[in-house]
Amino acid sequence: MKKIGVLTSGGDAPGMNAAIRAVVRAALSKNMEVMGIYRGYNGLINGDIKPLSVRSVSDVIQHGGTMLYTARCQEFRHEEGLQKAKQTCIENGIEGIVVIGGDGSFRGAADLSARGIPCVGIPGTIDNDIAMSEYTIGYDTAMNTAMELVDKLRDTSQSHDRCSVVEVMGRNAGYIAVNTGIACGATCIIVPEKPWSIEAVCDKIKQTQATGKHHFIVVVSEGVGNSGDIAKQIEEKTGVESRATILGHVQRGGSPTIRDRIAASQLGYYAVQLLFEGKGNRVVGIQNNKIVDYDIQEALSMKKPFEDELYRIADEISF
Ligand code: ADP
Repeated sequence: MKKIGVLTSGGDAPGMNAAIRAVVRAALSKNMEVMGIYRGYNGLINGDIKPLSVRSVSDVIQHGGTMLYTARCQEFRHEEGLQKAKQTCIENGIEGIVVIGGDGSFRGAADLSARGIPCVGIPGTIDNDIAMSEYTIGYDTAMNTAMELVDKLRDTSQSHDRCSVVEVMGRNAGYIAVNTGIACGATCIIVPEKPWSIEAVCDKIKQTQATGKHHFIVVVSEGVGNSGDIAKQIEEKTGVESRATILGHVQRGGSPTIRDRIAASQLGYYAVQLLFEGKGNRVVGIQNNKIVDYDIQEALSMKKPFEDELYRIADEISF
């Protein structure tokens, strides 16, 4: 391939800029041209595309967000949208595309690959919910942000003898919750992957109360449901004043951690290597510290095991 495109799609994640930089630099070093496609698949449909030079990705590696902007694009889910996107590629000489995003974005990448534009996906999501990769770009930064915020909540919770119910992001996956929970010494962690009951949560709070503890942290994954209701029920059943805090989109921002920058650089480089070799309809990821790649459909059909052991340890050491 002589000319490729790069886009970011779906939810933004810290480290996406580092991945864009790696894609641009890797491609230029192989004498391939790179086009930046703006606002996800919308840019392909609307022709919102600009060439990226070696200097256009200077000074971005340390910034959160994405310099190419991101979006969700309904039109791309239909044949007409896909054909428009393909036409834009043909008109601009784009022979392959690197798609940085989550599983929804990979479905789109598979659809476009099937129509003759080879795409390679890079897992970029704070949720770490891509089964073929042990790690996704943005996950480490999001967990560190959540940890820092829960630590701050603990200060006020401790001063007031309160229970803080903290809702962290993760969509339907509890990875951010279990890791933040263990790192912050939460009394309870509630995730969608594990059965739970308000009675068990309250019993745990009462047990720890009996040993002299006066403040409590309950970390709830967003996929579980209403953290406000959980706080209300804890207060009713235990008599401990309880407040819910939803950390929300603040977890998606900020300067990427070293882990995210390194993963983004490796995955970006490897994605370009695949296109350079003429390979498409692939997703790159990390397994046992090695970069691997899978067919997109195969990657999408894989199931990620939950961190049962970490969840069990967190529970056993929090009393
Ligand atoms: P993420 O990539 O973070 O999972 P989304 O699920 O919102 O985010 O998907 C991002 C974009 O990918 C969508 O707005 C759409 O343009 C495209 N997409 C998602 N699902 C499909 C699908 N089944 N077929 C084609 N394109 C899709």
